[in-house]
Amino acid sequence: MKIQRLPVLTALLLLAAAAAWFFRVDVGLFGENYLRFVSLLLAALGLASILVQFILVSRIKSLESGFGLDRMLRWHRVFGRAGLILVTLHAVLIIAFQLLQFGEVFLNLFILIGILGLLGFMVTAGVASTYKKIGLAYETWRNIHLVNYVLFPLVMIHALYHAAPGSLLYYYLLLLAFLFLAVAFYRVARIAAVRRNPFEVVEVRQEAEDIWSLFFKGPRPEYKPGQFMFIQLLRNGELSSPHPFTISSSPTAEYISITPKELGDFTSTIKNTKPGDRAFIDAPYGIFSFLNYAGGEPVFFAGGIGITPFMSMLRYMFDRKQDQKVTLFWANRSEKNLCFREELELMKKEMPGLRVIPVMSNQPDWQGEKGHIKGPMIMNYIETIDNKDFYVCGPPGMSRAVINELKQLNVSPVAIHSELFEL
Ligand SMILES: Cc1cc2nc3c(=O)[nH]c(=O)nc-3n(C[C@H](O)[C@H](O)[C@H](O)COP(=O)(O)OP(=O)(O)OC[C@H]3O[C@@H](n4cnc5c(N)ncnc54)[C@H](O)[C@@H]3O)c2cc1C
Repeated sequence: MKIQRLPVLTALLLLAAAAAWFFRVDVGLFGENYLRFVSLLLAALGLASILVQFILVSRIKSLESGFGLDRMLRWHRVFGRAGLILVTLHAVLIIAFQLLQFGEVFLNLFILIGILGLLGFMVTAGVASTYKKIGLAYETWRNIHLVNYVLFPLVMIHALYHAAPGSLLYYYLLLLAFLFLAVAFYRVARIAAVRRNPFEVVEVRQEAEDIWSLFFKGPRPEYKPGQFMFIQLLRNGELSSPHPFTISSSPTAEYISITPKELGDFTSTIKNTKPGDRAFIDAPYGIFSFLNYAGGEPVFFAGGIGITPFMSMLRYMFDRKQDQKVTLFWANRSEKNLCFREELELMKKEMPGLRVIPVMSNQPDWQGEKGHIKGPMIMNYIETIDNKDFYVCGPPGMSRAVINELKQLNVSPVAIHSELFEL
C-alpha cells in the first residue's frame, strides 16, 4: 500500500468507529451484522453526499461568492458520483446481508420505492455524463436532471421507513430531510424573486456578423465587472430556459448588457429580440473580476467571445478614469470575428496604459500577431511575469492551452484566474 494512503485509511476506520457508536449497531467484526452496519453507513454517507450536491447547485450567494459557481459545479459532480456509488453499494450489501442471514431477499412497497429512487439516480447521472455524446439538447438534459428533486424525497421515505423511530439514525435522516426542504425552498424562492422583478430590453445592437448585444432596463443588481448572470428571455409570450452570460456592461453604465455570439438554438435567436421584450435576470455570479485580486498588473487573455468579461472590466476602468497598465491578448480566427473594435480604439486613446494585441489564427494577410498565443509572444509584450495577475477567458481548449503556456513560464497558479464559458 502507498504510504500516502495510510492517513486516508486511518480516517476511514475512525469514521467507521464513530459511525458504529453513532448508530449503536451491534458490530460483529466478521458476522452478518457487520454487513448490515456497513450497508447502513454507506447509505447514510451516500444520502449526505447527494444532499451536498443539491446545496452546491442551489446558487446560494454567500457560498458562490467565495468559491465561484464553476468550482461548485465541479464539486457537485464529484459529490453526485460519490453519492451514487455509496447508495449502490448500500443496496448490494443489504441484499448480501439478507441472503446470508435469511436465505432470501425481502421486498415491500418501501423497498420498491428505494429501488425506484436508486434506478432513477442511475438514469439521471448516466444522462448527465453522456448527454453531449448522445446528442441530447442541453434543455432536455437539464429537465431530466431536475427529476432528482423527486427522487431524493423517495429515497428519504425509504430510509426513514427502515430507521427505528427515536434512534440516532432516524434523527440524522430527519436532519437531511429538513436541509433538503430548506434548499428546495431557497431555490423556488430565488426563482420567484427573479420573476417578481422583470427587466425590459431597451436596445438590440449588432456588434459583428454573428454577435449581438442586448441592453436591459430594470432593478439593476450590484455587480463587479467580469461577473455573469443567468437570463431568461420572454419573447412573444414564450419563456426561454435560463442561460449564463457575462455581464458585458460596466457597473458604471446606465443599462446592464450581455453580448451573446450565435452558437446554438438559443443564441441564434438573440437577433430576433425586440426592444420592449422582457427578461428575467438572476445576477450576479462568478468571481472573475480584477477587483477580486487587487494585487498585480492585469494581463488579459480572451478567446473569441471570451472578450466580454474584459470589456466589462475595461469599460469600468475607462469610466472611472483609472488609467493603469493593462495588456489584452485577444485570440480570434480572423478579424471578421472582432467586435468592439472602435470602442477599444477610443479606450486606447484615453488610456495610454492599455495595450490590445489581437492574434489571428486563420488569416494569413493579418498584419499583427498570427497563430496561437505562446510563451515567447507573451513575454515579448509583458517582459516580466512579476507583479502581474493573469486572467484567461474563452473556449475550454484555448483557455487550457494559454494556462499551460503561463505555467511553463513559471507563473504561479495563484496568479492565474480563469472563467470557462461552460458549466
Ligand atoms: C459563465 C459563463 C459566461 C458566458 N458568457 C458568454 C458571453 O458573454 N457570450 C457568449 O456568447 N456566450 C457566453 N457563454 C456561453 C453561453 O452560455 C452558451 O453559448 C449558450 O448558453 C449556448 O446556448 P445555445 O442554446 O445557443 O447553444 P447550444 O448548442 O444549445 O449549447 C452549446 C453549449 O452551451 C452550453 N449551454 C447550452 N445551454 C445552456 C444553459 N441553459 N446553461 C448553461 N450552459 C448551456 C452547453 O455546454 C452546450 O453544450 C457563457 C457561459 C458561461 C458558463
